[in-house]
Amino acid sequence: MKAGSENKLCPSSTCHSGALLLGVVNGDQKVSLLTTPIPVNDEFVEKVNAAGDPERRFRFASKCAKNGCAQWTGSSCGIMDELAAANHLLEVINEQLPDCAIRPTCRWYSQDGAMACMICPYVVTQSEKPVPVSIEAQP
Ligand code: SF4
Repeated sequence: MKAGSENKLCPSSTCHSGALLLGVVNGDQKVSLLTTPIPVNDEFVEKVNAAGDPERRFRFASKCAKNGCAQWTGSSCGIMDELAAANHLLEVINEQLPDCAIRPTCRWYSQDGAMACMICPYVVTQSEKPVPVSIEAQP
């Protein structure tokens, strides 16, 4: 299902005040999603920017900008379109989906359902565009 005009959250946003801290990138580059996302404030932005590359160390969520985002295709997020295509053979195992507080309003989930949530923990945002990943070969 492609997303419509409803308000959704982008789960791979930039670090800015007003965003939500959604997850932490671990040493193995897999993302651990927070049980409860934390609102990002100016102080947090300043601190993590001082350490550099906040989007490569954390995942942030904020309102999907749709036409205001270079990744918006006009009807969907092109990032998840690419990721879903790259992982189209992935077997979706519902029991393995990460707990996620934003699922009801997540843009990626609204597009590709459980498939998006299987892929999501392997996505590290790089300033403008997340790293495309194929996780089919991973154990
Ligand atoms: S894709 Fe799934 S796991 Fe990732 S943020 Fe959206 S709802 Fe949560």
